[in-house]
Amino acid sequence: MGKAITQYPPIHLCVASMGGYEEKYVKEAFDCNWIAPLGPNVDAFEKSLEDYLGNGKHVAALSSGTAALHLALVLAGVQANDEVLCQSWTFSASANPIIYQGATPIFVDSEESTWNISPKLLEYAIEDRINKTGKKPKAIIAVDLYGMPAKWEELVEISKHYDIPLIEDAAEALGSTYKEGKCGTFGQYGVVSFNGNKMITTSGGGALISGSIEEKKKALYYSTQARELYPWYEHKRVGYNYRLSNICAGIGRGQMEVLEKHIEHHRNLNKLYKVLFEETEKITVHHNPSSLFKSNFWLTTIIFKERNDFEIAETVREYLASKNIESRPLWKPMHLQPVFKHAPHYGNGISDNLWHRGLCLPSGPKVSEEDVKWIATLIKEIIDC
Ligand SMILES: *Cc1c(COP(=O)(O)O)cnc(C)c1O
Repeated sequence: MGKAITQYPPIHLCVASMGGYEEKYVKEAFDCNWIAPLGPNVDAFEKSLEDYLGNGKHVAALSSGTAALHLALVLAGVQANDEVLCQSWTFSASANPIIYQGATPIFVDSEESTWNISPKLLEYAIEDRINKTGKKPKAIIAVDLYGMPAKWEELVEISKHYDIPLIEDAAEALGSTYKEGKCGTFGQYGVVSFNGNKMITTSGGGALISGSIEEKKKALYYSTQARELYPWYEHKRVGYNYRLSNICAGIGRGQMEVLEKHIEHHRNLNKLYKVLFEETEKITVHHNPSSLFKSNFWLTTIIFKERNDFEIAETVREYLASKNIESRPLWKPMHLQPVFKHAPHYGNGISDNLWHRGLCLPSGPKVSEEDVKWIATLIKEIIDC
């Protein structure tokens, strides 16, 4: 007399999926007692990321993507009372480290095709800050939102023209490419995340990508309490405890072996969503603006075209939730967040107009094509198309 099963099995946005060798590398760490925030797994994980990213980049494995962003600001010389330009349409972790440094975030809105920072508005903001404060902003943080590459060619040009370091927040974009380059390699510093919900995971972790071995060494120095080369503990600067654990790096080593498989899966699901929503006038699936951009489609995102309010998106979200399917509103821009209400903002209305009329849909390695078909059917059913 068992109870009837009423609950559907859950479908999540993006959860961890192990390739098979992660436990072997973790066990190796146990076997040789490398239970520390350094060791052979950390070295091998960094090497494999460097090989993957190419372009002569150097990688420092850290405890989180947020830690990597913080160290990027430290290396860029950002100090109290400096200004840092930051893409407004992003997750708060892009902006929080600016506050850790006692600096002021200056938020810049996005352009429509990639949803990332508008090069035009960025240039305007730089000129305006120089006019208003007599001082150049100290750094630029641009994001590859949902895995979509930003307009890197123009952004790099602006960064060079004004001689302001560019930091690429590629936390969501491991595996995405723009032209021939991989996301994470376009700025002076790049950041990726290995949180549990990202393209690959170390349970929690991140990496700082830089252009020289000297910068990598500096990052490692700051990430291990800024210890000087003396037999005793000598400190000339304030450091952090940001290094990645050798246990977590073991998971990362195993995950690198399935990265390509994950990327292909995310892209296939995105293709399927696009086909399934092709006929519906009421929905657009966010897509690569041209063949130069190749998103990893970390999360497939859709926009409801009909209305400029929360109603449809929330109705759909609640309906999916009733079937045990996770979906999520798009990131709420930083210039609309209470915590940043005093920060200057250069707007063009694009993120204000879009963020509340869209949803992120299940896109991870545990999501099947059958799941996607069912999700699309449910969405079409509830919005009646
Ligand atoms: C996840 C994420 C981060 C932070 O990475 P953590 O590893 O979670 O600290 C930063 N920026 C963006 C855009 C993210 O999505």
